[in-house]
Amino acid sequence: MAMYKLLRMMLILGILLIVLGDAGVQVAAADDLNTGEQYKLAVIIDDFGNGQKGTDDMMQLPVRITVAVMPFLPTSRADAEKAHAAGHDVIIHMPMEPKQGRASWLGPGVIKSTMKDAEIREVMEKAIQDVPYAVGVNNHMGSKVTGDERIMSVVLDVCREHGLFFIDSKTNYHSVTGKIAVQKGLPEVNNHIFLDDVHTVSHVKKQLRLAADYAKKNKYCITIGHVGVFGERTAAGLKESIEELQREGIRFTSISELVMEQNNWSPDGLLVH
Ligand SMILES: [Zn+2]
Repeated sequence: MAMYKLLRMMLILGILLIVLGDAGVQVAAADDLNTGEQYKLAVIIDDFGNGQKGTDDMMQLPVRITVAVMPFLPTSRADAEKAHAAGHDVIIHMPMEPKQGRASWLGPGVIKSTMKDAEIREVMEKAIQDVPYAVGVNNHMGSKVTGDERIMSVVLDVCREHGLFFIDSKTNYHSVTGKIAVQKGLPEVNNHIFLDDVHTVSHVKKQLRLAADYAKKNKYCITIGHVGVFGERTAAGLKESIEELQREGIRFTSISELVMEQNNWSPDGLLVH
């Protein structure tokens, strides 16, 4: 009987040691990674402002993201406020005329190629009023307008006057946005990878892997996903990838921090009022 008790005690002790030992190794591994090099990943999620699917899932992600809110829609203001309260960055997701596509995809307040300079300025100013806490602007669609020097010049003037930077979603490979931004003393900021051009969780995870590899090669990466019909899948792909990417040294960062760091840029010197 005594022998049996002794064996049982040894067995329990053995299991305890294995469990504790394992935990010790994990903590050490995590510490090593934290002191190692970090690669920054800014995740922008487009198309907020209309109560689309995935809105809450995205807001509740355990890392900082950038919430791109379309102006003049039923939940524009509420989404911007919610994102700000949750510690995310807010940017204005400005609808802009594409080369092709239905007008119904664009929403209200679209910047069109036929608009006069004063009209572009007016719609930009109104959008800035409609989306509180914005630190920047990016384009919703806009394959036509982002290739137009006159229009982008007005858009970027308004951005500059309000201390906002512009992130080119890169819906047009002949975009003039970066070139004009630099001429005006604004940083050139581009999307590198779309996360959800195919609407499956596995594709989102694959794209995040590409984004992480890009960040490791180039120190940082900017990537764009969406809320919408398949927004819950994009959110799930992100949620399932975050821990693994963090273990590899990827740090999820806000777009404002990234832009200021990478471009040595601060909005203060640019404000004209
Ligand atoms: Zn969009």
